[in-house]
Amino acid sequence: MASCYYYYWLLLSLSLLSLARGLHSSAGDADPIYKTCVEQCEKTGCVGENCFQHCKFSSDGKPIDGPWYLQEPLYLQWKQWDCRSDCRYHCMLTREEEREKLGDSPVKYHGKWPFRRVYGLQEPVSVALSALNLAIQFHGWVSFFILVYYKLPLRPNKKTYYEYTGFFHIYAILAMNSWFWSTVFHSRDVELTERLDYSSAVALLGFSLILAIVRAFNMRDEAARVMVAAPVIAFVTTHILYLNFFKFDYGLNMKVCGAMGVAQLLIWGIWAAVSRHPSRWKLWVVVVGGALAVLLEIYDFPPYQGFVDAHALWHATTIPLTYLWWCFVKDDAEFRTSSLLKKAK
Ligand SMILES: [Zn+2]
Repeated sequence: MASCYYYYWLLLSLSLLSLARGLHSSAGDADPIYKTCVEQCEKTGCVGENCFQHCKFSSDGKPIDGPWYLQEPLYLQWKQWDCRSDCRYHCMLTREEEREKLGDSPVKYHGKWPFRRVYGLQEPVSVALSALNLAIQFHGWVSFFILVYYKLPLRPNKKTYYEYTGFFHIYAILAMNSWFWSTVFHSRDVELTERLDYSSAVALLGFSLILAIVRAFNMRDEAARVMVAAPVIAFVTTHILYLNFFKFDYGLNMKVCGAMGVAQLLIWGIWAAVSRHPSRWKLWVVVVGGALAVLLEIYDFPPYQGFVDAHALWHATTIPLTYLWWCFVKDDAEFRTSSLLKKAK
């Protein structure tokens, strides 16, 4: 019974997740006052007192067909701060102010909560937290590197005693890549940055699933590792290609990520429970913390003061968890090394 209930809860959460992230038109942009505002703005180039340079460009009547260097500055093109995006943003702010005066709670616009930009960054809090996550991953990796290559003894062939060193190097690179694109995506959400963020996250999740299986089952020989890695890599690669070149399906992606995430949390959780690993409590905290953090992605709430939403908080919780995770990895390297050395004596 308990397991059925769990399964139901999981399915429900996953479907809620896909709803929250999957709908790209939302209550906010269906509002006729907002719609009229955007239409007006695209004609006049202004919302109230605010007028936008980019709108003059296209509503001048001049078609933009001069050489590229006479058109909008390239950096602005990259940011896609065109007329429509400016209009949508300012109409959203105006409409949300009116709604707030009437005592209404915030609604989503085009699939996103109304965030306030800071220096052109769309979700400044998520940007800062993603950058911090990147820094913590880098710190964890560097300290792991120093531990296994400089502090712990090396084998006669200059390799580390710890059998999973290579896996953690790949893990660290994929994690840093993923946080880098998360930082970019939250700064400016366009199709390209979204794809890069989602694809890197899927790659990281897939690889950490391989890592969980290989470590938890003590797979030391090459053949067994390949047997685990090959199907997961094939599946993840197919999924990434499907998302980018066939259909960018948010619902499907959430199911795939959810399944891979739950699988590795279960593997680590069970392993931490049954193994006599001296640092298993650290792993336990990471697993329980990770599972609780997923709740933040499910109970999606609007940004407080236009800045801190559930997703930003989720990125905040991964910072201490990542720190503890690398602590566990370093303990594990030490533990394996010392038990291998004891055996050798
Ligand atoms: Zn994010």
